[in-house]
Amino acid sequence: MSSDNDGIVIVGASAAGLSAADGLREGGYTGPLTVLDEEADPGYDRPMLSKSLLAAKEHVAPAALRTRDQLAAKQIELIAGHGAKGLDIDRRLVVTNCGEAIGWQHLVIATGVTARPVVTTGGTPLPTLRTRGDLAAVRLLATSGEPVTLVGGGFVGLEAAAALRSRGVDVTLLCANHLPLAGALGDAIAIWLHGLHLANGVRFRLGSATHRVAETPQGYDIHLADGRAEQATNVLAGIGTEPATDWLVGSGVQLDHGVVTDAAGRTNVDGVWAAGDIACRWDQSRRRHRRFEHWTHAIEQGRRVGLNIARGEATAHDAVPYVWTEQYGLTLHMLGERRPGDTDIVVEGSITAGDFVVVHGTDDELHGATICGRVRALRTLKKLLRARASLNDALGSAASA
Ligand SMILES: Cc1cc2nc3c(=O)[nH]c(=O)nc-3n(C[C@H](O)[C@H](O)[C@H](O)COP(=O)(O)OP(=O)(O)OC[C@H]3O[C@@H](n4cnc5c(N)ncnc54)[C@H](O)[C@@H]3O)c2cc1C
Repeated sequence: MSSDNDGIVIVGASAAGLSAADGLREGGYTGPLTVLDEEADPGYDRPMLSKSLLAAKEHVAPAALRTRDQLAAKQIELIAGHGAKGLDIDRRLVVTNCGEAIGWQHLVIATGVTARPVVTTGGTPLPTLRTRGDLAAVRLLATSGEPVTLVGGGFVGLEAAAALRSRGVDVTLLCANHLPLAGALGDAIAIWLHGLHLANGVRFRLGSATHRVAETPQGYDIHLADGRAEQATNVLAGIGTEPATDWLVGSGVQLDHGVVTDAAGRTNVDGVWAAGDIACRWDQSRRRHRRFEHWTHAIEQGRRVGLNIARGEATAHDAVPYVWTEQYGLTLHMLGERRPGDTDIVVEGSITAGDFVVVHGTDDELHGATICGRVRALRTLKKLLRARASLNDALGSAASA
């Protein structure tokens, strides 16, 4: 660790940060390279936390993204258990919560997001599922034999519901929307997904946000915005995320629901870059800044930022957004982005059979696709989305497949 400003420092040793380190070495950067992370044992397969690792009967640690040997082979110094507390852009220093000041020539911000807290009226935050430590705590809830109430019907909440049901846990899911994931998937797929959870024994309270949670001797009283109340023994909250930007407040790096970057990943401060969930990147095609919380996006964008720094380039990261979710042994793949008001058209298979290709768009614009089962459609639809093809092109490609 050095206070000289001759090296590159990456803050966050997960999908984006470690990929940025790889991109730097791949791009020919041979100087000092330090990756800093507040977790004691960072860099693991985060998506598995709410899937097989929660469903597993025995505790299994999440797979590491890199071994110590792999880091050493690329001369990447990992400083684990040291969080960044502040950033001095004039003196080009990252200040850690252990009191060090680490100098940098280029800095990559890859601190991701944290789970948005739900705090009881008594001031206690409800458990969430974001880190390996959270997994251990949530697994304890599952082994208690008591029912679990999930606050939030997003991807993590639904995956946790499926994993807990596979272990025989009684699950109630509270969801602010009329159907879980209706915005991202459209009503037709959301109705099917909701039915899948009902068929697997999940109890739902739909259409009202959680307003207030009070602790009781037995657990919790959860008050919904529409006046209904739920009693819960164990709870798990999954109501979204917050970009982990606390340490950057007042630093001079532009923040706006994340770290604002150009299409190449550069922030407003010379030599400071951002990648992954935290990066709110300029999207030339949509003419606005956008932030994604997708695993492959974090990996690809991190690598691109590393290559850009190493090669002195400013190449845009311009991939088609992709995210998947696994529930009850089925994998849903989502490409592009369904937008409000989009029409959803089944181009192959059947939604009720859980085997389909659905495209989303408006007028003649193709915006996204959701695929279950028929994975060979992924490549074609990715190509069409990249080429900004029309809805008709997507329908035509299905007809000719
Ligand atoms: C339970 C769960 C399931 C998911 N499932 C899927 C899925 O199925 N498909 C999908 O595409 N995506 C999924 N995601 C999203 C995916 O995990 C993220 O998009 C991805 O992890 C983002 O990578 P990142 O490197 O940008 O950030 P993160 O993975 O959040 O990593 C940020 C790192 O920065 C560190 N850090 C934070 N603050 C500081 C600080 N001040 N100082 C030092 N270090 C700091 C953290 O400890 C962490 O290691 C899931 C996420 C969760 C939580």
